[in-house]
Amino acid sequence: MSHMSETARRLVFLGTQAEPCLIHEEVPIPKLKPGEILGKLRMATICGSDLHTISGKRKEQTPSILGHEGVVEVINHLRPDTDIEKGDRITFHVINCCNKCENCREGLQQKCTSLFKYGHSIMTEESQLNGCYASHIIIHSGTHVAKIPGHVRDNMAATINCALATMVNVVSGLTGENLHRDTVALIQGCGLLGIYGCVLLQEAGFRKVYCSDIEPKRLEIVQRFGGIPVITDGSPPSDPGDNSVDVVIEVCGFPGVIPDGIRLLRTGGLYVLAGMVHPNSNLDITGEQIIRKCVTIKGIHNYGPQHLDEAISFLSRTCNKYPFEELFSPSFKLTDFEQALLLSKQQVFNRVCVEP
Ligand SMILES: [Zn+2]
Ligand SMILES: [Zn+2]
Repeated sequence: MSHMSETARRLVFLGTQAEPCLIHEEVPIPKLKPGEILGKLRMATICGSDLHTISGKRKEQTPSILGHEGVVEVINHLRPDTDIEKGDRITFHVINCCNKCENCREGLQQKCTSLFKYGHSIMTEESQLNGCYASHIIIHSGTHVAKIPGHVRDNMAATINCALATMVNVVSGLTGENLHRDTVALIQGCGLLGIYGCVLLQEAGFRKVYCSDIEPKRLEIVQRFGGIPVITDGSPPSDPGDNSVDVVIEVCGFPGVIPDGIRLLRTGGLYVLAGMVHPNSNLDITGEQIIRKCVTIKGIHNYGPQHLDEAISFLSRTCNKYPFEELFSPSFKLTDFEQALLLSKQQVFNRVCVEP
């Protein structure tokens, strides 16, 4: 059966001057090349980085199709050596990599020297359906994909390939010499990354998982995900005490949290930075503080293919154990994207859902 005659709908981002410019288009679905998968978007979610791009805070090449968190149904594929079949519900690594360069071979596929990132890349003649705010997406030949178990709902499944897999990467790095005690962690920021972090650490057997934020309302929810809320309103919190935390994980994107994190971190502790992916991130920390406290500072950006698989099995085990459903908005049609965007900015839900 040929799909050349079929069409796809896509929301094209043309950049932001005074206002963001987003237009709806209908285009023929291109013919698949070897290794590619044609998927129909079942659901996409609006991630913080989409909001940054749309607001103009983050500069990406245009025209592009935004949206990288998504779950798709396989319509067709040209991957003879896969167990993926038409009709399967799958997620995909947000990065297409070569698997040959030095970074790929070192296990840093997200830093592939010829990487392509879905939902962040310019549209070209060769790449017409490369983001999730569209009815269809074409997954490239070098992209790892994986099936979603039937009991994991579409909204949760949509966030596996960004927020959840990134936190799985963060947590999988928390082993080794830093964690020889009964581990206490502090997560700075209670957005979706922070909430997933609470659940991951709770399930990994951490003794206490604190989660800090400036918004008391936002923080209320973390208790239901295994976190202990810590409101940071300028005055030092009484709990956790100074020098008492083994691991601090920054996912809030705000460099102002660093002095608190260093103060709470114990001697020999580990500080993971994962949220400040923007240039306004000069840190207020001295070399002396790092040296005298024997602190390890580690950066985590995105994740590799194995973290996608781990994220799926993690969600498969825990999706009915925690109230994940509360994190997601009712879903919007792609044609109502403007409304979805408005709701997303209000931060009532951790993710606003779009059903293209
Ligand atoms: Zn994202
Ligand atoms: Zn590579």
